[in-house]
This record gives sequence, structure tokens and C-alpha cells, in this order.
Amino acid sequence: MNLILMGLPGAGKGTQAERIIAEYNIPHISTGDMFRAAMANETALGLKAKSYMDNGDLVPDEVTNGIVKERLAESDTDKGFLLDGFPRTLDQAQALDAMMKDLGKEIDAVIEINVPEEILVDRLAGRYMCRDCGATYHKVFNPTKVEGTCDRCGGHDFYQREDDKPETVKNRLAVNVKSSEPILAYYKEKGLLQSIDGNREIDAVFADVKNIIE
Ligand code: ADP
Ligand code: AMP
Repeated sequence: MNLILMGLPGAGKGTQAERIIAEYNIPHISTGDMFRAAMANETALGLKAKSYMDNGDLVPDEVTNGIVKERLAESDTDKGFLLDGFPRTLDQAQALDAMMKDLGKEIDAVIEINVPEEILVDRLAGRYMCRDCGATYHKVFNPTKVEGTCDRCGGHDFYQREDDKPETVKNRLAVNVKSSEPILAYYKEKGLLQSIDGNREIDAVFADVKNIIE
């Protein structure tokens, strides 16, 4: 099962991805996570991505396409995969098609999580992450069960993403609205697009995701 999860920043892709990979046992391929890991490790890729990410802009297509191509060549993707945050431009969608062709695979579904922009601003402002395992929480909508302790790994070190600060969020949303429109049309045309209402409880959204997958 080869899936793409789409949606604007804050729509709930990472949150749903955690549930999808636990239920279906497929690898989660998040380009944002890959760039953040590269930045934390100060690799050449991380240094390249940093200025774009800090401004809320997209990392150039050739860089992003390159890391996805390498990742999809790994054998754990043979049982399927979940792409999160990729493709984000038409060029990336076309590059992905070429990768799929080379690998003899196909995308089975593109799941778009829809949430109004004004809600996204609040979601991003309150998002915090576990530094040890990357789990995502929200101060109000989805806090840890025990305050200060990660539900998933028991860690105690949390942080707010640099690009979730209000000065970056506005540009990120604008950039992503503009870049996503042609890709949504592209997948709609191919009959792969499934849109769901993401402005509901996390479990209700996941029930829709499962319906689509099954
Ligand atoms: P994305 O990966 O699409 O950027 P996240 O999964 O990180 O989005 O979610 C953004 C923020 O919104 C996080 O703080 C998360 O806990 C919260 N969130 C996710 N899904 C929901 C939901 N259905 N209702 C309320 N808050 C949510
Ligand atoms: P995300 O974690 O998906 O919100 O992504 C965080 C940031 O990483 C984005 O604002 C971009 O700067 C960069 N990024 C992630 N995925 C892509 C992509 N497919 N194309 C370009 N830039 C990306």
C-alpha cells in the first residue's frame, strides 16, 4: 500500500501518520522530519535546507526529490510506504511518478486532510514535539497524558519547532496553499485524490483515513 498524505502545515499529517504506521506497519517517510534530522546533525543536506525552512519556504525540488529517491530505494518500502509532506510541488509529483515507474510501483491513494486556515494558525502556535522520539502534541487539543512526559517514549524534553513561530507561520501557509493547488488537481485528474474533513477529533479523522485505506 503506497500512500501519500497531503494537507497544509498543521492539518494533522504527522498525527495521523503515527496512527497509520502503527496500524499498517509501513514506513513513514516525512521530508520535513528528514530535513530536521539533517539539520540537527549539521550534515551538508541540513545546512542546505536550513535557510529555506527557517523562512517557511520550500527546499528546492532537486534537493527534495533526491532524498526521497534515495529513501524509496530502501528495502523497507517493499511492503508499502506513507509519504508525508511530499510531493509539495508539481515538479515533485512528476519526479515521484518517474521514481514509481523505475521501481515498478504505483501510488494507491492520495489522502488530503482539509482544515480551514484560521484553525491551522492555532494548531501550529500550540504544537510541541518530543525531542527524543519526534512525537507531536498540542498544548490544548492534544496534550501528553502525563504533563511533561512523552506518551510514546517517556521522554521529558520538548521543544517548539522554529518554523511554528508566528512570524514564519504566515509565509508557510501562503507558500503551501499556492504550491498544493496544482498537485491536488493533478491527483484528482488521476482519480487518486480522497479528501477528508480534518477539523474534527483526531480519532474521527483517523476513522475516515482507515475507511479510505481499507
Ligand atoms: P502536520 O504534520 O500536518 O503539520 P501535525 O500532525 O503536526 O500537522 O498537527 C499540528 C498540530 O495540531 C499538533 O499540535 C497536533 O497535536 C494538533 N492536531 C493534529 N490533529 C488534530 C485534530 N484533529 N484536532 C486538533 N488538533 C490536532
Ligand atoms: P513539514 O515538517 O512537512 O511541515 O516541513 C517543514 C519544512 O521542511 C517546510 O516548511 C519546508 O521548508 C521543508 N520541506 C518539507 N517537505 C518539503 C518538500 N516536499 N518540498 C520542499 N520543502 C519541504
